[in-house]
Amino acid sequence: MQHMALSVLCLKGTISEMEVANFRERGQAALRQKAQRGALVQRVAVGYLRGVDDRIEKDPDARIQSTIDLVFRKFAELGSVRQVYFWLDRQQIELPVVLGTKDAREKGWQAARYHAVLSILKNPVYAGAYAYGRTKTITRLEAGQKVQRRVKRRREDWAVLILDHHEGYIGWDVYQSNQAMIVHNDNANGHAVRGAVRHGEALLAGLLRCGHCGAKMLAQYPRQRVIRYQCSGYMLNRDQSSCVMFGGLRADCLVSEQLLRCLSPLGIDAATAAIAALESANDERIHQKTLALEQARYEVAHARRQYDVVDPSNRLVAAELERRWNRALAAEAELEAEIAALEDGLEHPITDAQKRELMNFARDIPGLWDAPDSSPEYKKRLLRIALKEITATCEAETIRLVLHWQGGDHIQVEFPKIHTGKHRYATSHEIVEMIGERYVKDRC
Ligand SMILES: [Zn+2]
Repeated sequence: MQHMALSVLCLKGTISEMEVANFRERGQAALRQKAQRGALVQRVAVGYLRGVDDRIEKDPDARIQSTIDLVFRKFAELGSVRQVYFWLDRQQIELPVVLGTKDAREKGWQAARYHAVLSILKNPVYAGAYAYGRTKTITRLEAGQKVQRRVKRRREDWAVLILDHHEGYIGWDVYQSNQAMIVHNDNANGHAVRGAVRHGEALLAGLLRCGHCGAKMLAQYPRQRVIRYQCSGYMLNRDQSSCVMFGGLRADCLVSEQLLRCLSPLGIDAATAAIAALESANDERIHQKTLALEQARYEVAHARRQYDVVDPSNRLVAAELERRWNRALAAEAELEAEIAALEDGLEHPITDAQKRELMNFARDIPGLWDAPDSSPEYKKRLLRIALKEITATCEAETIRLVLHWQGGDHIQVEFPKIHTGKHRYATSHEIVEMIGERYVKDRC
């Protein structure tokens, strides 16, 4: 009998487990259905609010809107998440954050963090899109323990994506190009993308593509102070020899020459832009602080109203409200002082002498390029700003490089391949001279 009772209990347990699983399944299906309609709004990103019928609406708070706009504008200008973060940090511009649970949302402001900037730039919600299922949970056994992790899905694997779902801060096309830019800058993606500038002397690393098979070309350093570029196609197919391979010094010099030829006028533009950026940085800070001041003034008025209505005999409450009022007043005064200090600085933001210095700097880019303290990283960065890609082909004894400029134009440069047997152990006088120039005088 006891045995019987036990097995009934066991059975009950199994059935209730099945029921739980069943309920969970049905609940998830219902959530998925709601998401398919774009109506499942779990946690609204900062800059948006949950409106009537769970609609996503832009937060009417002007300070929040303006700060999120600023993040996107700065990314368009600087082209790197890290640079946007550094800029916000230097300007001491805070970012809005949402704290608390979904039912008790509290908005606050925090010093900008890299991940906060990244998550604003990567969240499709700011492009007016509704996305669901951007991550998935994977379960793994690690050291005998069940470990669950959320991992990101690729965009084509998102469960739901509805464009023009609500008002965006940017367009979908801008969102897409921002994502491409973020991926490009991400070294972790290896050979599939250009990657941000790496250390090393080879200036064309990451820019070269094989014109025969389309594979990326790798920079190699067979010996100290020797650079070689080689098509990476052979890594996929070991039977095949590499389609194209050539010494790096000559190629680096030829491409640098071309770059300098077209960079001088660009340098002037860059200097003009730098001057404008210096001047506008202070405006931007004043604008942000003014919005913060408006908010602080509201807090003061609010604290005062609360203090006014409380019964003075309720001393505990009155004292707490008085403290809040004082805090609000102090925050207001602090912001007023900061704005005054910034406005003081505005009267002489950048002197004419500094402007002239910047312009001279721009005119002398070739001089800077050759300067002994000009690092390969600096040169590579300039090359990437100007060049989209370089394709390399080899015909008979000639290496041909096609330089694709960012604007869409392209030019060709050619140079003879070094003959077999005339490679690094029998380097020509010319190459010896080039190496000498590059590494002894640290030029080119
Ligand atoms: Zn190839």
